Amino acid sequence: MTGGGALVEPGADGRRAPRAGSDRAGTALTDDDGVVLEVDPAYCALVAGRPRDLLGRRLHEVVRVDGGPFDLPAAVARLLAAGSGAPPLSVEGVVHRLDGTSFAARSSLSLSGAAAGRPVVVARLAPAGDGAEPARALPAGAGRDALTGLPGRPALLAALTALLGADGPGAPAPLAVVHCDVDRLAVVNDALGRGAGDELLAVVARALPQRLRAGDLVARVAPDEFVAVLGAVADPATALRAARRLAAPLVVPLAGRDVTTTLRAGVALARPDAGGAGPEEAARAAEALLRDASSALGEAGRAGRGAVRLHCPAARERALRSLDAEEDLRRGLRRGELEVHYQPVVDLREQRRVGFEALARWRHPERGLLLPADFLPAAEESGLDAVVDAVVLTAALDFLQRRPGVHVAVNVSARRLDGTWAATVTEGLARRGVAPQRLVVELLETALLADDPVPVAELRALSARGVPVFIDDFGTGWAALSYLRRLPVDGVKLDRSFVADLPGDRDCARIADAVAALAAGLSLQALAEGVETAAQARLLAERGWRYAQGWHFGRAEPEEHWYPAQGVRATDAPARPGCPSREPA
Ligand code: C2E
Ligand code: CA
Ligand code: CA
Repeated sequence: MTGGGALVEPGADGRRAPRAGSDRAGTALTDDDGVVLEVDPAYCALVAGRPRDLLGRRLHEVVRVDGGPFDLPAAVARLLAAGSGAPPLSVEGVVHRLDGTSFAARSSLSLSGAAAGRPVVVARLAPAGDGAEPARALPAGAGRDALTGLPGRPALLAALTALLGADGPGAPAPLAVVHCDVDRLAVVNDALGRGAGDELLAVVARALPQRLRAGDLVARVAPDEFVAVLGAVADPATALRAARRLAAPLVVPLAGRDVTTTLRAGVALARPDAGGAGPEEAARAAEALLRDASSALGEAGRAGRGAVRLHCPAARERALRSLDAEEDLRRGLRRGELEVHYQPVVDLREQRRVGFEALARWRHPERGLLLPADFLPAAEESGLDAVVDAVVLTAALDFLQRRPGVHVAVNVSARRLDGTWAATVTEGLARRGVAPQRLVVELLETALLADDPVPVAELRALSARGVPVFIDDFGTGWAALSYLRRLPVDGVKLDRSFVADLPGDRDCARIADAVAALAAGLSLQALAEGVETAAQARLLAERGWRYAQGWHFGRAEPEEHWYPAQGVRATDAPARPGCPSREPA
């Protein structure tokens, strides 16, 4: 961080403090490069951003402290050098929110274990001077427990009965119950002692109300089990979102180290006709609701750490499937299960390998090696595709630094072109001393269809810095070809559907010819994808295609496959960029 900015009171200087309800500490998890892997709702509220504004971005480039970017990778290097048990690095200063406002905050960085050998960075943010706890608990008196100060099960049941009963004003409001348990209490007790276990429970008990809205209730119903009652929640999706917020990982400093703990949660919704009757029926409805939540928790228990399950037979299936996929991918990203495989690109004229395309793979602990089609669609829904792109970019840049003489192409989703991509790319290249011409950015034609000035500006910025831009799956996007003249495009990749039926299909051959001529006329490089046979390679070469890629030359494989003996293979090019910019095909 920038060595400690002056403390400014919230509200001074016309700087606005975050809105009410967003003034609690927030946490973001990043990799050692600052790429945001995960961010909690409190952090989003503090910086006035949505998860997708942050996920996959480098934290210090999105959230600026004291106006100047602090060097997060350098801070991480300092923490690593200091070794385990080092205190967090912290600073108080002005944080600039995404909506243009700013506020005084305390911000700290610490390391939490490692995912696949890479450290996970915990970045915490809290309004400066904030220490107050929100007042959210059940009515005073009723049997609070000494450790957490929360009420117990009898008080919970009484409150829930009252809420479901007819004795309140008007009809009972819809509500949901979330039953949570703390995943690692036994481990913490065993490894760090009972005192640390109690401390963990106390921290969880303080954190849960902060993750709820004013008026929601929390009780402690067993040593490591908590129940929250959420008012005004009528639909499963809202209930699941709230439960996920409650169950989000929590980083707790215990015995000199940061322990990340997760919660499991079971959710149940009150049936619309649950209350409104006499007190006895309301009490029965309250019991039933707690039972439903607890049976959902049982299912969550079988599903593993951090799982959230809904007891709501009808709506369950659909809601769960997407939530599960998203949760699963978050976990995978945190644990470093995303891999990058490299598929060779060859120069048909010179008959040698000139580079690779970096393709995302997920080494799933249960499902094996997954292809992008298995996880990118779900990732897109939640904004995690930007994290995937960022992780692949980092890996590709490291690859380029290790392996001179080749280029690497990365795919970027259109949404990632949000105004920060070009800067991230050029900064990553500069930091590693890699020539910009060696990184190729592949963009789907459809990304250019929308009349959005931001992607265009990003492409211009990339091109101005010397990074070649290729249009992927060329020929499938129905784009007006005029964009090839307007935009800084360096090359096209002929979609593999046009290559698949070569040499037999005459229409495909004509299209391949036309695209080659178009590329030559516009001084664009031409690369044919999906080349599976020697006959296809021969025909494409004869018809002016300079570059090719496909199973005939090699599939996407891990780096070690292409560089087996540490050294660089003889077939690699001498130190010369793979695809020189704007060389006619
Ligand atoms: P793409 O960019 O068109 O990548 C080429 C796809 O064709 C790859 O599939 C590759 O394995 C496959 N392929 C290569 N040669 C042949 C061949 O000779 N025959 C056939 N039938 N297929 C071949 P993959 O790896 O499953 O990737 C699918 C798509 O996922 C990619 O299509 C790309 O659009 C997307 N993708 C992959 N990695 C990333 C990433 O890091 N970020 C983003 N945003 N998208 C990615
Ligand atoms: Ca591609
Ligand atoms: Ca393609």
